[in-house]
Amino acid sequence: MTITESLLHWYSQNKRSLPWRETRNPYKIYLSEVILQQTRVAQGTDYYHRFLAAFPDVHSLAAADEQEVLKLWQGLGYYSRARNMHFTAKEVVEKHNGIFPQSSAGLKKLKGIGDYTAAAIASICFDEPTAVLDGNVARVISRLYAIDTPVDSNEGKKTITDLANSLLDTNHPGTFNQAVMELGALVCTPKSPACNTCPVAFACEALKRNQIENFPHKTPKKTPTIRHLNYLVISFTKDKDEFILMRKRTGNDIWKNMYDFPCIESGEASDPKDILESGVKSGLLGEFPFVVRHVSDEYIHQLSHRRLLARFIRIEVNGEPELPGDLISVRKDLIAELPLPRLIDRYFATLI
Ligand code: SF4
Repeated sequence: MTITESLLHWYSQNKRSLPWRETRNPYKIYLSEVILQQTRVAQGTDYYHRFLAAFPDVHSLAAADEQEVLKLWQGLGYYSRARNMHFTAKEVVEKHNGIFPQSSAGLKKLKGIGDYTAAAIASICFDEPTAVLDGNVARVISRLYAIDTPVDSNEGKKTITDLANSLLDTNHPGTFNQAVMELGALVCTPKSPACNTCPVAFACEALKRNQIENFPHKTPKKTPTIRHLNYLVISFTKDKDEFILMRKRTGNDIWKNMYDFPCIESGEASDPKDILESGVKSGLLGEFPFVVRHVSDEYIHQLSHRRLLARFIRIEVNGEPELPGDLISVRKDLIAELPLPRLIDRYFATLI
């Protein structure tokens, strides 16, 4: 048997039963692909069902309010994925009458659809003979052929894509693509791959050389930058209800249109007294008397290139303050309904 035949046979016998494998509907495949980027299958499956229940087709997603989409996405991180997905749904409805383009070239013209997603949708839904390239494919192919070029370099990506295309079953491109990815997820795993059960072990160059741990080659990573965030969780009571001051983030960053607390960033870990002093000086805490109720431990939040070290200083104000700057006051029991970055949500869950 050839590599391709062995792989397809193995896939037919061993593939996991996953809900998006029951369909060739481009909207559902798109939804699953966006959710599964940087998300584990178990968690992604839950979100896939939730999104389909709330937005069963591209029209309902396009008609949704962005806040609603972000709220449903909460917990998955990388919120630009949700925003782009929403934008794409609107684009498909407004410019393409609700019908996804049927080629990878056409799909790539939509915002938020890159090479991988376009190839996945085009091959699975429209039988376009195009190989996908994701982390699993890169690992499998780089080991099979012992590729020395870093798989995250442009040259490496091209080499792997060309090799994957040379193996592709042009009659069943979607099945082939899923088979390579499934092999990477279940057998050719990043650590301790199960070579003894691998259907393509007979052709694997890395195994032959006994150098599996050397592949895939990657460009050395830069050390992530560290940011120290000091959140001021300012609350007051009005008519027996507790309110907390929040801000809606409007800057063009990963948490755009989500809500957090006013924040003072410091170059290094700082004494809360210094933070409060700077809050008074900047006017954030200048206009009202307050007492500090609690200072949290440090929360670590890892982003792809940054590590956030956050502390939350809980402050109580006597009476309703003049709202400084762009802050709004939100009744505490309504905060959970707002789209919150995961970091804020983690802290908020501890707030009694
Ligand atoms: S033999 Fe091992 S390293 Fe080679 S493709 Fe199979 S699982 Fe991966």
